[in-house]
Amino acid sequence: MTATPYDGFDRMPLGGQWRGGRSGRVLEDRDPYTDEILVRIPLAGEEDLNEAFRAAADTQPKWAAMLPGERAAILRRAAAIMEARREEIVTWLIKESGSTRLKANIEWGSAQAIMLEAASAPYRVQGRILPSDIPGKENRVYRQPVGVVGVISPWNFPLHLSNRSVAPALAVGNAVVIKPASDTPVTGGLLLAKIFDEAGLPPGVLSVVVGPGSVIGDAFVLHPVPRVMSFTGSTPVGRRIAELAAKSPMLKKVALELGGNSPFVILDDADLDLAVNAAVFGKFIHQGQICMITNRLIVDGRIYDRFVERFTARVRDLTVGDPNSADTAIGPIINKSQFDGLLKHIATARANGARQTAGGEPTGLLLPPHVFADVTPHMRIAQDEMFGPVVSIIKVTGEEEAIRVANDTEYGLSSAVFTRNVERGVRVALQVKAGMTHVNDQPVVDLSNCPFGGEKNSGLGRFGGDWIIEEFTTDHWVSVQHTPRQYPF
Ligand code: NAD
Repeated sequence: MTATPYDGFDRMPLGGQWRGGRSGRVLEDRDPYTDEILVRIPLAGEEDLNEAFRAAADTQPKWAAMLPGERAAILRRAAAIMEARREEIVTWLIKESGSTRLKANIEWGSAQAIMLEAASAPYRVQGRILPSDIPGKENRVYRQPVGVVGVISPWNFPLHLSNRSVAPALAVGNAVVIKPASDTPVTGGLLLAKIFDEAGLPPGVLSVVVGPGSVIGDAFVLHPVPRVMSFTGSTPVGRRIAELAAKSPMLKKVALELGGNSPFVILDDADLDLAVNAAVFGKFIHQGQICMITNRLIVDGRIYDRFVERFTARVRDLTVGDPNSADTAIGPIINKSQFDGLLKHIATARANGARQTAGGEPTGLLLPPHVFADVTPHMRIAQDEMFGPVVSIIKVTGEEEAIRVANDTEYGLSSAVFTRNVERGVRVALQVKAGMTHVNDQPVVDLSNCPFGGEKNSGLGRFGGDWIIEEFTTDHWVSVQHTPRQYPF
């Protein structure tokens, strides 16, 4: 039986009630491919934000006191609802975030995997009993939920990047307030809230505030209630979040998942066909709008010309167009401002003397894939995060130079190394300053049980598996003095 599609996305769950925001402003949520207005949402203001955080603080203790099995059951139900509503969710991702059908299905899979991983989290929270140098004292360390978690997510993988914080935070007994990106209010928050409502999450435990960043952005981070701000987005905004969190009347922890500039290193002994296939996917999935996406292809001089030729030929064959068509590889850029930024990067790359081997004229927000060869490591196109279908190819001589160039960036999120010698690959991988390196795979890899996160300006903290349980819980040392202590005075 198919479920009746959700409706009422012009309202948001605020403190247990679905209603419109009271800022007096309205957001027009548009399809980036057709420009159709999908929904008009009365935006939340500061009063709505306060209500969401107040309800989160009020409902959290009762939620945390529920049996682990009860919390787990809600997460399992949410995963089953996602299964039943797969096409509805995928369609929203295509329409709202310009995802191709392929990417929307990948995102659905990642978000559901997180739901299932989180369903086991209530049983994995562990306390400890520690030895004591004070006679008669027992040291117990309880692992408790932090309380309330604030989640700020971007528009590129809205459902998954919200849920990778929301599901584990809820699972270990926290209440959550989400602030989705203005381009993706439904897939970044409201849709998730509908799923959790249907799964039986008690009202007030999860709120979504859709509001203008300029009005509620700072207030969201400065608010005294949330103990952890889980932010995924750009590095400049992440820095601002960290500053605000430090200035908040109540200090809070920040988990920051920020920008990237992934190197994809192809050593002289790489399997070229394997590397070309991986590079095409690892650069152009979701139009290149992914933090882990390949930014720089760093290729050994011995295979450079052959790589450039084969890679360019494959890229020219990619279908650009309607994201809803099964054979489309590259859909629209999310909005005009991102699109204009990419055109500027392309113009700069040309002006800097990079050799363009693939490209084409844009239509609407569709930007054909652009490839630049003979890029040098300090050109802007190599140093900046290209959040779109634009890639650099850099020629290097030998392993050492490849590693040096790979590390010549402020970022350190994901990376890739291709070689037929696996141990050589691992040796090189360990010298790349990044949170994640994949040997003989491209850099866009996200598995719910593995540590996801970055080094350098790519962020602080890790998602996934036990790492996220640690992020959303805190230690409470409780000691018990079983026998009277002998005090010195
Ligand atoms: P962004 O930083 O502009 O926005 C991210 C979120 O922050 C949005 O919800 C936005 O509304 C909100 N925001 C903006 N200013 C704010 C403020 N002052 N206070 C509070 N919230 C504020 O990023 P984006 O354009 O949505 O996403 C693209 C960026 O995100 C890229 O740099 C990409 O690499 C990064 N990203 C990182 C990861 C990761 O896991 N490391 C994943 C996806 C995207």
